[in-house]
Amino acid sequence: MNCYKCGKEYPSSHYFKTKTICRDCFAKLSPEEQLAAKQPPKMHAMTTTAFTLDGYTIEKSLGVVRGIIVRSRSVFGTIGASLQTLVGGNITLFTELCEATRADAFDMMVEHAEEIGANALIGVRYDATEIMQGVTEVLCYGTAVIVTPDKKV
Ligand SMILES: [Zn+2]
Repeated sequence: MNCYKCGKEYPSSHYFKTKTICRDCFAKLSPEEQLAAKQPPKMHAMTTTAFTLDGYTIEKSLGVVRGIIVRSRSVFGTIGASLQTLVGGNITLFTELCEATRADAFDMMVEHAEEIGANALIGVRYDATEIMQGVTEVLCYGTAVIVTPDKKV
């Protein structure tokens, strides 16, 4: 796992002060930033593939936001996966690559949504296109919205 601030890689969460920031970086933050950093990233819980969010009313739609990642398969990964195709079954090397790429596209979409002031994303979809041999574009998109909790619940 990597620190969100400095990008340094650590072997376990033991080195982290929060979910995303390492102890070294956290110590350098101002008290306000430290407080903000301790808040869990709320957006991730507020994304859905549906067009409604249970327990919340959609106050405003801010339009579609997207995250696009274009990734080529590494030579090593391709050779490994070719061997796996011969053996059969789930091609884990590609599965992992797809998962990581999707997660990156998702994060990018969430960032854009936060930039425009949304606090939730609805109708989240993924799309992947092979734009040329070995180069895949992964698109993640959704509708950025502002929601408020239902008073009835
Ligand atoms: Zn750090």
